[in-house]
Amino acid sequence: MNKSIIYLDHAATTALDPQVLEAMMTYFTNNAGNPSSIHQAGRIALQALDDARETVAMILGANRNEIVFTSGGSEADNLAIKGVALAQQQRDKGNHIITSAIEHHAVLDAVQYLEQFGFEATLLPVDDRGLVNPDDLRAALRPDTVLASVMYANNEVGTIQPIAELGAICRECGVPFHTDAVQAAGSLPLDVDELNVDLLSLAAHKFYGPKGAGALYVRRGVPLLPQINGGGQERRRRAGTENIPSIVGLAQALALAEERRPAYVEHCRMLRDRLIDGVLDRISGAWLNGDRIQRLPNNANLGFDCVEGESVLLLLDQRGVCASSGSACSSGSLEPSPVLLAMGQLTDDAIASVRFSIGKDTALADIDDVLAMLPDMIGQLRGVMPCNRVQNSSVAVM
Ligand SMILES: *Cc1c(COP(=O)(O)O)cnc(C)c1O
Repeated sequence: MNKSIIYLDHAATTALDPQVLEAMMTYFTNNAGNPSSIHQAGRIALQALDDARETVAMILGANRNEIVFTSGGSEADNLAIKGVALAQQQRDKGNHIITSAIEHHAVLDAVQYLEQFGFEATLLPVDDRGLVNPDDLRAALRPDTVLASVMYANNEVGTIQPIAELGAICRECGVPFHTDAVQAAGSLPLDVDELNVDLLSLAAHKFYGPKGAGALYVRRGVPLLPQINGGGQERRRRAGTENIPSIVGLAQALALAEERRPAYVEHCRMLRDRLIDGVLDRISGAWLNGDRIQRLPNNANLGFDCVEGESVLLLLDQRGVCASSGSACSSGSLEPSPVLLAMGQLTDDAIASVRFSIGKDTALADIDDVLAMLPDMIGQLRGVMPCNRVQNSSVAVM
């Protein structure tokens, strides 16, 4: 990322690692064959595809036949949800899907889409830290449940779900279990057997790989209908000429992320805690969203009483700091974050949050710069913004 900015939005995307770019380059130019071609150029591309698949499978503790490459995290989620649900419906297994209230839109909207075609959905609630209760999953399972999907770690508040426990409950009932691991890759272990998952989504650009590249792990025997029809690529699970440079980049990025994981986690966690503690120390009426412990190492989602998160972001942007709002801002209007609302927050609090997400190249000085500028920004905004709660309390004191 450009050195003149302080980039703290790694949960949105990351810059391509130079080593990954290097690995990809030859497949754009010298080795640009189609892996379905039987000639030499095709064989070179096929070898790269096979090697990438083997790398990803090894890191997930999976078999190479269980990996489907996609155009990103959204496509992997859509393929998992629609692909399994429709295959199960075709087998008359039922039409009930379970997911959580705080999923990424790629999961939530895919489930909602299926509701138009006769599927029924149960959204599991979360507690005030954003955690799903395994007992709620157990209670929601029905004889006609065909799929459950709970994300590994939340993209807004960073809360990590008890995936292995949730997966074990689904397995007892013979229900395929999907997890969106897009935010988890690079930070958390991805072994699909230890996690008890049947499907798992990845997106390369969240771990220093290329945008537009993803993968779906599909356990052997799990029924899946393709959602893109055409050629027989990816063992008939996803048609289309494979994006070899991006697939090579995804595999290389995942291998690097896995190799660097211990050091990365330690680096991020140190900076994250410095930012969280610094903000809570320096700014009154500030709070941390999400669980303090069961939390992604790079996520600090902070709320500021009587302030709009969007306004903080504008001031930060003026000073060269890129962060993100916890809320989905639709067409310029302030929408409270559905994740924070599901965690039981009131609208005023749910629009008062800012997500800082740290990366491998974030420096201590970046965090200290932000800590130096934030108190004034919050003070400035509290000065110009009438705050009902502060006014109410001063009235009460009088
Ligand atoms: C970014 C993200 C996605 C979508 O991935 P794309 O590659 O951008 O399509 C899905 N789920 C989660 C949790 C994400 O953070």
